[in-house]
Amino acid sequence: MKDGADPGSGTARPVRICHIDADTGALRRSGVTGRRSYDVVVVGAGPAGSTCARRCAELGLSTCLIEEHAAIGYPVQCAGLLSVRAFEACEVSEKPVLHEVSGARMVTSRGSELTFDAGRTKAYVVDRGLLDREMATKAVQAGAEIRIKTAFSKRSGSVAITRGISGREEIPFCVLIAADGPRSRVARELRMPRPPVFLAGIQAEIPKPMAGNLVEIYPDASPEFFGWIIPSGEGRARIGLAGREQVFSRFRRFIEEHGGGSCCHFVTGTIPLGVMPRTYGHQTLFVGDAAGFPKPTSGGGVYTGVRSAYHAAETAYEACNTGNTGDDQLGGYEKRWKADFGKELELGFRLFGIRQNLTGKEVDRLIRVLNDPALKADILRYGDMDRPGVLLGRLMKNPKLYPVLGILFHSGVRHFIK
Ligand SMILES: Cc1cc2nc3c(=O)[nH]c(=O)nc-3n(C[C@H](O)[C@H](O)[C@H](O)COP(=O)(O)OP(=O)(O)OC[C@H]3O[C@@H](n4cnc5c(N)ncnc54)[C@H](O)[C@@H]3O)c2cc1C
Repeated sequence: MKDGADPGSGTARPVRICHIDADTGALRRSGVTGRRSYDVVVVGAGPAGSTCARRCAELGLSTCLIEEHAAIGYPVQCAGLLSVRAFEACEVSEKPVLHEVSGARMVTSRGSELTFDAGRTKAYVVDRGLLDREMATKAVQAGAEIRIKTAFSKRSGSVAITRGISGREEIPFCVLIAADGPRSRVARELRMPRPPVFLAGIQAEIPKPMAGNLVEIYPDASPEFFGWIIPSGEGRARIGLAGREQVFSRFRRFIEEHGGGSCCHFVTGTIPLGVMPRTYGHQTLFVGDAAGFPKPTSGGGVYTGVRSAYHAAETAYEACNTGNTGDDQLGGYEKRWKADFGKELELGFRLFGIRQNLTGKEVDRLIRVLNDPALKADILRYGDMDRPGVLLGRLMKNPKLYPVLGILFHSGVRHFIK
């Protein structure tokens, strides 16, 4: 850690640089062996990893960010729809923005529709490759060292062993940040219990003119989740769905129903839902998709990933500063992210469970009921992509929704007695 870094005041104060010897387990100062050692090694240069690396470097920690791919941000595994708040949290320029979105239109196969348009920008459609690259660049500008085409392969005590362009390397650390996405190798290596649900997502970018700035949602395209069509710029749209079963055949049907056409960019990926039971341990903090932070109502994980990265950086700073990387110290990370967005994820996961048991007919009825002007006004006023709990609490108080509470209750019961 560099002297003079203090997250609160920016005032200078002496700090300890700690590393735990892989063989003896003893704390030692940085750089006593021939290997370059770091306060923090971050695995994965997605939005969560780059944010964490940037923040750690800003706090004065010596930070190494490793990324297995040669090009940051590729392959893209995202629809690129970010709320205004999520985009701002990424702290990048406006260059990645391709389009603006002001609302949504939900359409069922039984013909019901629900449209809400705020009339102002609520979300951005971004070029995720560019966004990730800018975020990684910011980490480097803040002082983090980046190694691309370098994959974490295993660890030995407090040393990360990597393979890649420079062959086999050993990188000692004080705190390891696992930001290596849904299939986290770090988590598997440490035998940490994983999130309970993994959805498969698939999307194509196709030529498709769309009127207005609305995202289209198709619940029947994927009965366990939903399908989407997102305007991504002049004459183009991103069409995709996520689910647990028959994902590719459902996607083929969905795209055929909506004009098909030749695809210019294909995206596939995994969305973990339901946070892993413990997001810290073994000198390691799990952030973003590696921890299972995507929102279970939408699958969006950039916002929570970036938020978790900030909390992880603060915790890593404290751990390196005190030389204590034990669970008592690292557990502070879990308290931080839970206080920030834990309740939203918990509620979202319950709603996801209910969604699993809603029939197409029940979804159709819900949409018809929600199409009431008073309820739509609440949706427009309190709707928040990142924090749906506020809207839900509001809707529950509205007597107009009472007719469908039975549907939600019964599908909730069906979910729990399954
Ligand atoms: C089809 C689809 C659509 C989506 N749409 C949206 C959306 O519209 N909005 C939204 O907010 N979210 C969306 N998401 C989710 C979003 O993409 C993720 O939540 C987000 O990318 C998580 O960021 P992350 O930094 O945690 O992980 P990732 O972005 O997955 O980054 C992990 C990084 O770690 C690297 N890595 C992995 N293993 C290793 C290793 N062993 N060594 C070194 N590096 C490694 C990877 O190469 C990658 O760069 C979507 C996901 C899918 C699949």
